[in-house]
Amino acid sequence: MRILLVEDEIKMARAIRRGLEQEGYAVDAVGDGEEALFRATESDYDGIVLDLMLPGMDGFAVCRTLRSRDRWAPVLVLTARDAVADRIRGLDAGADDYLVKPFAFGELLARLRALVRRGPGARPAVLEVGDVSLDPAAHRVLRAGQVVELSAREFALLEYLMRHAGEVVSRTRILDHVWDYNYDGLSNVVDVYVGYLRRKLGTAPDGSEPFIRTVRGVGYVVGS
Ligand code: CA
Repeated sequence: MRILLVEDEIKMARAIRRGLEQEGYAVDAVGDGEEALFRATESDYDGIVLDLMLPGMDGFAVCRTLRSRDRWAPVLVLTARDAVADRIRGLDAGADDYLVKPFAFGELLARLRALVRRGPGARPAVLEVGDVSLDPAAHRVLRAGQVVELSAREFALLEYLMRHAGEVVSRTRILDHVWDYNYDGLSNVVDVYVGYLRRKLGTAPDGSEPFIRTVRGVGYVVGS
């Protein structure tokens, strides 16, 4: 297992590196964001331990850029303080987990093991299907580059369909996941909201079938 360690504090970097090597990991250590980005783009790592506060390009930018280049090695970020905002930003930038300094080395090992086990599957922060993109963190939907304004419920419905792109999703399943358990309003509420979404999303530039397609008697599907 090959790990990229990105940490500019020399003592900290040395301690983590030594600990990881004792556990049998191969470790490449770098001290700045540009170098980290270069290494992680050139080689396939099984995991990346990434300090957020780095000179020059910070850890947020490193992580976001890697994901935008389709590099999906699991990333564990290290934050210097217990700042919730940093952790949220880190996760939104595409990190998989975080650890607040100071931490027990055993915890770093445990989290890293869990991440490495999970492997490098693509986990895009922004969902894209056809010409529609949906950013859950920014709560933004674009169709062919144009912003589409949606209500919270419409957004949730579209997000659910896009997370299951290519799958026909039944009305019951949509109700269970997008409306809460106790919903007992209109029975055709799903169809009503699909209608709202279709109107707001408009038609594709080539005028082909609607983005959300009806599969008669079964449910709805987006994507091929
Ligand atoms: Ca640092």
